[in-house]
Amino acid sequence: SSIPKIVILGAGYGGILTAQKLQKELNYNEADVTLVNRHDYHYFTTHLHMPAAGTDSVDHSRVAISRLIDEFKIDLVKSNVQDIRLFDKKVILEDGTLSFDYLIVALGGEPESFGIPGLDNYAFTIRSINSVRLIRQHIEYQFAQYKGDESRKDRLNFVVGGAGFSGIEFVAELADRIPLLCREYDVDPALVHIYNIEAAPTALPGFDAELVEYAMDVLKKKGVTFKIGTAIKECTEKGVLLATDELIKTATVVWTGGIRGNRLVEAAGFEAMRGRVKIDEYLRAPNQEQIFIIGDNSLMLNSEGRPYPPTAQMAMQQGICCAQNIVALIRGQQLKPFHFSHKGTVASLGKGEAIAVVGHKKYMGWKAAQLKKLVDLRYLFTIGGITLVLRKGRFL
Ligand code: FAD
Repeated sequence: SSIPKIVILGAGYGGILTAQKLQKELNYNEADVTLVNRHDYHYFTTHLHMPAAGTDSVDHSRVAISRLIDEFKIDLVKSNVQDIRLFDKKVILEDGTLSFDYLIVALGGEPESFGIPGLDNYAFTIRSINSVRLIRQHIEYQFAQYKGDESRKDRLNFVVGGAGFSGIEFVAELADRIPLLCREYDVDPALVHIYNIEAAPTALPGFDAELVEYAMDVLKKKGVTFKIGTAIKECTEKGVLLATDELIKTATVVWTGGIRGNRLVEAAGFEAMRGRVKIDEYLRAPNQEQIFIIGDNSLMLNSEGRPYPPTAQMAMQQGICCAQNIVALIRGQQLKPFHFSHKGTVASLGKGEAIAVVGHKKYMGWKAAQLKKLVDLRYLFTIGGITLVLRKGRFL
C-alpha cells in the first residue's frame, strides 16, 4: 500500500508543534507530511502587541519556518488555503491542490466584530505581522500629520476596543510608546489621549479581581482612560460612537474585542460555533476518524462544561497530542485522550510590569514581568532550542 499523506494546515502554535512532533516520532517512509502556511515564517501572536505599538521590531516576533522543521522530512508549502473538501479528502490552495489521508486544521482565529457597524472597515486588528506593521505605521503617521495641521487634535486620540488580554497588553505598550513619539514629533503629551473601551462589566473578564485592579491602576498611571461596561455602538471614519452616545473622535481604532475561528472551517461543512468545532477527546472533528482540529479552531469543554479560552498554550499541547494520535492511528495503536495542563496565565502591562497567576499564586509587577519573559524564552527553546533563544530572545 502507498504511504499515508498527512497535511497540516497552518504553522502557528498548533501547526508547528504538530509538525515537530511528527518529524520526531515518524520513521523513515512511514508517512508523507506536508505543512501549509500562507507565510514562510512562523510568528508569535502572543508577542504582536509590541511591534504593533512600535516598542519592538517585528523580527523579534517571527522566525523562518525552515529553521524550525527538517525539510528533508516535511514538505513546506507556502500558500493560501482556500477550501477544504472533506468528501474528496482534498485541500484547495490558491495555486494547487493537495490530497490527504490525515488532516490537521490549525488555521487559527480571526477577529470577530459581532456585527458592530463600521468595525470591519475602520478598525485595525492585531492578528499577523502584516496587520501590526500597518498599526505601527498608522500611529506614527498620525503624529506626523498632526504637525501639518494642528487643528486636528483628534489625530492624537487612540482608541483600543476590548480590555481582554490582547487589548490590555496592547494598550500598555502604546502607553509606553506615546512619550517617545511625543518627543520625536515635538508634541505636547497632554494632548494625547488613549482610551480603552470594554463592553463587559470588568476589564480582563475572568481574571482575579485583585490583579485586574492592579493592572488598571498601572495603566491609568501610564495615562490610559478606561471606559468599562461601555459598548461601542458604531465605528466610523471620524471615530467611535459609544452606547452612552458619547462620540470619541479619532483616526485610530484598534479592535481586540472578539475572536472567532477561521471561516474556512464553517465553509468546509464542519459543525461550528463561530468557527470553532467541538472536537472529541482525541482532538478529532465529529464523525471523522482522520481529521483533527486544534488551536483556535477547536472547542473543548472543561470539567465544568465551559469552553476553554483559545490560547497558545492550549494550541501547543493539542499539537503534540494530535501528532501522537496520528502516529498511533498509522501504527494501529490505541489513541490517547487529550488532557489540558494549565501552566498559568501572564499578561504584560508594558515595560517592567505584568500580572500573573500560576496555580493558586498571584504575581504582580517586576516578578510577573520576569515570568512573562521566562514564558517567552521557554517557547523559543521549545520550538528552536538554545540557538533560537539567543537569536530572538529578549532578555531585558
Ligand atoms: P495561530 O497561531 O494563529 O496560527 C495559524 C496559522 O495559520 C498562522 O501562521 C496563519 O498565517 C496561518 N493561516 C491562517 N489562514 C490561512 C490560510 N487560509 N492559508 C494558509 N495559512 C493560513 N495566548 C496565550 O496563551 N498567551 C498569551 O499571552 C496570548 N497573548 C495573545 C496576544 C494577542 C495580541 C493575540 C491576538 C492572541 C494572544 N493569545 C495568547 C492567543 C494565541 O495567540 C492563540 O490562541 C494562538 O495563536 C492559537 O494558535 P493556533 O495554532 O490555533 O493559530
